Parts: sequence; structure tokens; C-alpha cells
Amino acid sequence: MTPPQLEVDALVVGGGIAGMQSALDLADQGYQVALVERQASIGGKMISLSKVFPTLDCCSCITTPKMSAVAHHPNIRLLTYTEVESIGEQDGAFTARLVKKPRYVDEDLCTGCRQCEYACPVDLPNAFDRNLSAIRAICVPFSTAVPQKAVLDIEHCLLCGKCQKACPVDAIDFTQQPEPLEVRAGSIVLATGFETTPVDAKAEYGAGRFPNVIDGLTMERLLAPTGPYGHVLRPSDGKEPDSIAYVQCAGSRDQTLGVEYCSRVCCMYAIKQAMLLSGTLTLADITIYYMDIRTFGKGYEQFYKNAQAMGIRFVKGKVAKITEDEAHNLIARVELIEEGSQVVEWKHDLIVLSVGMLPGYRPEAVYGVPIADDGFVHTPSPNLSPTLTGRPGIFVTGTAGGPMDIVDSIVTAGAAAAEAAAYLETNGAARRRGAMAQQTRELVHA
Ligand SMILES: Cc1cc2nc3c(=O)[nH]c(=O)nc-3n(C[C@H](O)[C@H](O)[C@H](O)COP(=O)(O)OP(=O)(O)OC[C@H]3O[C@@H](n4cnc5c(N)ncnc54)[C@H](O)[C@@H]3O)c2cc1C
Ligand code: SF4
Ligand code: SF4
Repeated sequence: MTPPQLEVDALVVGGGIAGMQSALDLADQGYQVALVERQASIGGKMISLSKVFPTLDCCSCITTPKMSAVAHHPNIRLLTYTEVESIGEQDGAFTARLVKKPRYVDEDLCTGCRQCEYACPVDLPNAFDRNLSAIRAICVPFSTAVPQKAVLDIEHCLLCGKCQKACPVDAIDFTQQPEPLEVRAGSIVLATGFETTPVDAKAEYGAGRFPNVIDGLTMERLLAPTGPYGHVLRPSDGKEPDSIAYVQCAGSRDQTLGVEYCSRVCCMYAIKQAMLLSGTLTLADITIYYMDIRTFGKGYEQFYKNAQAMGIRFVKGKVAKITEDEAHNLIARVELIEEGSQVVEWKHDLIVLSVGMLPGYRPEAVYGVPIADDGFVHTPSPNLSPTLTGRPGIFVTGTAGGPMDIVDSIVTAGAAAAEAAAYLETNGAARRRGAMAQQTRELVHA
């Protein structure tokens, strides 16, 4: 059976800030856009952050309106919980074969009332809160999710039917199957984002074994007003930490991990979190152990200076090892670079590893775009056209192309939309000229 078909100008893959912005920029110019997101909600990593450097705006307050604008834009067709399986190319257009994964909830009927969630007896670790809180086997993924529709985790579901009984609109359907869909698009924008380097990659830092060694995204959730505890508490015993340390480059610029590049955001997010912590835990000591501090963006150096002025301690030192005592307090063994390589051991209640960025998805097999040595999408013209990929008609934006912050993700989103629009015009105009020439030939020969 032929799957349902959708014809658009551009297919945007990934609904983080970069994909959302590209989709909006194209849609605002009148192009028809399909935005595909593999998760049940759009928003990407940004919607899980607390506040953003360098402005310290509330992240939820600035991301939610974008998510909503995408969902309500008349020129954007939003396809969540959907993945692209293959791409074909014919007559200057791409044909993408997509699969919409079963939510086991009828999206058209679901009102997001959460009655199913309250009725479900299964508690599962909440990945959105870095597993520090629980969610139910059926739930709306998080409070500001777009769309506000429930999704059921069939792997952990008991099939007890309690949610079905609780649902006032009979939206739950245990028999739902994956649904194929075909999208024909003139161009593609890849915005598949990043994942963080594994927190336990450096065994000597003890993450995974020591509950109070956490990563940057976990601290984002602890700092977020909607976070797991509503306050910064350390995971082992719920104690308010008096001494918090950051270990920089705990996943980047490290040959032993195969991640030789700088992830660009870790210095700034550590400084941001340290500033937020000193506002929340006014008496806490906050230390950042670093090799180099890289504050490359507009206003970022001033941000760093403000943090120093606030009393945050910056220690140029290499953390060799972290151990813990019986009370789960942590001891950092540090070689102090500026003190003649003196080795010290300092105690902290909580240590945050500033992990780096890895590609969120490897698109070479499905999209046929070349990948660079660092694993991100190869951009053959990084100076003049940084969003071009090695395949005409496919563009890249945000962290799919390499580590970057939100500011640069937004800038490349606009650039990718402009490149895609130019490609559509040239290609569309070429196709129109070809059709006119054919018509002329037919008239001449008639
Ligand atoms: C701890 C931490 C704190 C940070 N704080 C800040 C800050 O304060 N200020 C700042 O400027 N930057 C900050 N950043 C960086 C910021 O998070 C990124 O710059 C930004 O989120 C990148 O957006 P993106 O859209 O490129 O990627 P993502 O947010 O990763 O979005 C990618 C989206 O694509 C989807 N996707 C992936 N593969 C597929 C696929 N195959 N099909 C369909 N969908 C797919 C994903 O599910 C995701 O929704 C921080 C980063 C970290 C780790
Ligand atoms: S059927 Fe599954 S999802 Fe529904 S309430 Fe029971 S365990 Fe939860
Ligand atoms: S599935 Fe039913 S009960 Fe659950 S959120 Fe949707 S409408 Fe409400």
C-alpha cells in the first residue's frame, strides 16, 4: 500500500533550537516546511536548561514561545516521534521515507489532561531530569512539552488498562502500529544536534560510582525551577552542598577519549552555573578547576570577569583523580599549574564534570552527507558558506555541524534557511525554465 504523501519545500530534521529556528525562518518566507523530531516533544537540549549565558534569561521562558510558534505556524507541519528511514533523490527533489512511531495515544484525541499519568502505577526514571525524578509509563513527557500529548512506554507498561479507564476521551490505543509517511521536499536542513560525552568516560573521576559526581546537564536540572528537587541538593543524601567544584575539559581536548576538539560551551556553562549557584547557595564555596578558560563570544569575557568579582574561585590545575569518603564527600587530587605543579587534595560536597559535545546523530548512511574527522557533518566551505554540506540541497545547522552555543545555533539556523531558500529558488527556477523549454520544443514540433 502506498504510504500517505506530503509535498513541502523543505524538510528540517531535528526540533532543537537550531531546527526550530530554521523551520520558522523558512516558513516566515512562505515556504512549506515539514519538521521531523524523533522525540515525543520538540525543544532539544535547550528546553532542559535552567538559564542561558550570557544573558541569564530563563531558558524555559525563551524556548517555549519558539516551540509554540513552530507548532502553530500555518506553513509548518510538525512530525514528532518520527524518524527518517531513507532518502531518495529524483528530478531535483528529495523523497524521504519516514516512520511515525506509535505513541499508543491518538494525538488527535489527546488533550494532555494527564489523567492517564495519574492513574498509571508504573514509576520509571525520568531521563528529562537526568533520572533524579520519576515519570509514569504513560505521561506527557515534561510540563512544557510541545505537543502536549501523552506517550506510552510499551516496554515498561503492565497493560493493566488503568490509564485507558482514566482517559476521558478514549485516546489510548494499545494496538497502534508504526505509520509510514513519504515526504517530498526540495531541500533538507539537518539540525540533529549533539549528545554530551559520557560522564563516566574518565574512570579516575568516579562518575557512575560516586553519586555526587554529576555532569553539567544534571546541574542544569538541579538549578531549573522545574527541576527534580526544586532546589540544589546533592544526590547521595539530599544535603545542601557547601562546597561545589567544576572540572573543566572532562570529556573534550582529550586524546585518550578520542575527543581532541574544544567543545566551546563548557567553560561558559560552568561559569554560568557557578554564578547561579552563588545566587542560590549564598554561603557555598565554588571552585572551577581549569587548564584554559575559553570565553570566545560577545560579552563572554566580561561574564567571566563578573564571575571572578562574585568570588568564584578559578584554579588553574589538572584534576588527576577524585575519591570519596564514607559520607560520599569527594576529594579532588589536583596538580596546581601556577604553583610549581604542587599537588593538593581538596574536599568538596559535589563535583560537576564539564563534559563536552558529541554528534547527536550520524547522518551519513541515510542522508549521504560526508562526515568530518571529528564526527560532525562535514562543511566543505566553512568560511564562506558554513551551512553547506557535501551534498547539494542538504544544509546543516546548529551542533549537528560541530560544537556551538545557542547564539551560533540561531545564526547558523538563519544561514541554513537562507541557503535552502536560495537553493529552492535556483533549483525551482531551473526546473521551471526546463519545463518552459520543453513546452517551447513541443510547440515548435507541433
Ligand atoms: C550543560 C550545558 C549547558 C548549556 N548552557 C548553554 C547556555 O547557557 N547558553 C548557550 O548559548 N548554550 C548552552 N549550551 C549549548 C546548547 O545546549 C546548544 O548550543 C544548543 O542546545 C544546540 O541546539 P541544537 O538544536 O543544535 O541541538 P539539540 O538541542 O541537541 O537539538 C537536536 C534535536 O534533534 C533531534 N534529533 C537528533 N537526531 C534526530 C534524527 N535522526 N531525526 C529526528 N530528530 C533528531 C534531537 O532529539 C533534538 O531534539 C549548553 C550545553 C550544555 C551541555
Ligand atoms: S496500561 Fe500501562 S501505561 Fe496504562 S496504567 Fe497500566 S502500566 Fe500504566
Ligand atoms: S491520553 Fe487521555 S488521559 Fe492521557 S493526557 Fe491524553 S487525553 Fe488525558
